[in-house]
Amino acid sequence: MDTDGADETHTGAGTPGIPGTPAIPGSPDTDVTPAALTTPGASGAAAGGPVVIVGAGQAGAETAAALRDRGFTGPVTLVGDEPGPPYGRPPLSKDYLTGGVEPGGLALRPPSYYRDHGITLTGRDPAVEIDRDGQRLTLASGRELPYAALVLATGARPRPLPVPGAGLAGVLALRSLEDATAIRDRLADARDVLVIGGGFIGLEVAATARRSGARVTVVEAGPRLMARAVSAPMSAFLAGHHREQGVRVLLGREVTALRGDAAGRCRVAELDGGERVPADLVVAGIGVLPNCSLAAAAGLAVGDGVLVDDRLRTSDRAVYAVGDCARFPSPYAPGRLRLESVRNAVEHARRVAAVLCGDTPPPAAVPWFWSEQYALRLQIAGITQGHDRTAVAGDPAAGRFSVLCFRGERLVGTESVNRPADHMATRRLLESGAPGPAPADAERPGFDLKAFTRSPQPV
Ligand SMILES: Cc1cc2nc3c(=O)[nH]c(=O)nc-3n(C[C@H](O)[C@H](O)[C@H](O)COP(=O)(O)OP(=O)(O)OC[C@H]3O[C@@H](n4cnc5c(N)ncnc54)[C@H](O)[C@@H]3O)c2cc1C
Repeated sequence: MDTDGADETHTGAGTPGIPGTPAIPGSPDTDVTPAALTTPGASGAAAGGPVVIVGAGQAGAETAAALRDRGFTGPVTLVGDEPGPPYGRPPLSKDYLTGGVEPGGLALRPPSYYRDHGITLTGRDPAVEIDRDGQRLTLASGRELPYAALVLATGARPRPLPVPGAGLAGVLALRSLEDATAIRDRLADARDVLVIGGGFIGLEVAATARRSGARVTVVEAGPRLMARAVSAPMSAFLAGHHREQGVRVLLGREVTALRGDAAGRCRVAELDGGERVPADLVVAGIGVLPNCSLAAAAGLAVGDGVLVDDRLRTSDRAVYAVGDCARFPSPYAPGRLRLESVRNAVEHARRVAAVLCGDTPPPAAVPWFWSEQYALRLQIAGITQGHDRTAVAGDPAAGRFSVLCFRGERLVGTESVNRPADHMATRRLLESGAPGPAPADAERPGFDLKAFTRSPQPV
């Protein structure tokens, strides 16, 4: 059930289709109330009052677990709108689609964990209203939950596909287990798969569909793949690799309409320029919108996400936001970020649990992301958006290389394909604040980032 209306104060450009990427870093916070966002004050939850978490996804479930790990003994309730216990989404675009993982294998923790740790799961009963004055949350069933602290972990939903025919059978988006199961069922007998959007999700689905034997076309409106998430050299590598695997990659092209048969099932996509592409399964991966209408309706500051400070506090000191729905300040990038990644959800959960327990939150970790496509493991350390220079280390032709991204002379992140040592070295480097290699160093043939980080650096 989509409980989020289209009433965000500002949805912004977002980051189409890509978990693990920042959404419009540094974009204007049109409706921020800076004073409200920096209001100090201990949370009531620190005194053991009830903590209610809206959203039983990655960030919500990790928040509940992190509270218990910290010794929080008050009541914890996890309000969900999906059936079943909290599960992880990464396999949904990968092994789950080919039957390599079954629903039971997606669970973040066994159901007994919640029972044993006194965490109440409401089941499928979405939150519909926050009464901030009375500190009560109302669920769709009419049930009311009083809270000392409320944590919004409502995630994001797929951006709707704005083309005629988007409602045909066989035209699907991918966010939930239900979505993935529908795609998996159709993939079993699909011959022509069309992926709209060349972001993380689209490319992972394309790789999985290709592996299952389907003919696959990716249509990306932008000039390169994953343009908001990775550098131009990485985009070019990925386009080449997908093409080598037999995927037809169309860049700078748009789907203008989807046409179905008499039974209402999608059969053909029309592209700009008039080309018709056979398509009996269409997966749209054109980005997500953060679920923040609940927050907006309650008068909280929102703007492409629920706006929070460095302690994950919203403009109400009793309400927090974590995970994909939260837009937060980071020491690793200018402005506020909204990140769509497991790592970010887990990091937020740990930080908010510390704050709710009255402890000092751990320092913000370097953001990092991953994606799997065919035998490629792409890892990104740092926030590379806004880089103005790159250096390639390793051998793209051998499928093992890294793109180091610089802003000016400063290393801001590294995108690695099957080079985990570079990924780890970058995370350590950024975390330590030590000077990284200059672009000229990294451009030298044979440059080794791991070796660089081990040699003493001038301060
Ligand atoms: C197919 C796919 C593949 C991915 N692969 C990767 C990957 O390889 N690596 C990576 O780092 N990240 C990946 N991600 C991203 C990652 O899964 C998300 O960043 C992460 O799930 C965010 O956690 P969250 O709790 O903020 O949001 P979610 O996991 O989306 O959870 C939010 C939950 O809140 C629920 N909800 C919303 N409104 C309400 C309401 N009013 N009441 C009750 N419940 C509500 C939603 O239905 C949902 O269950 C992937 C995502 C998808 C969809």
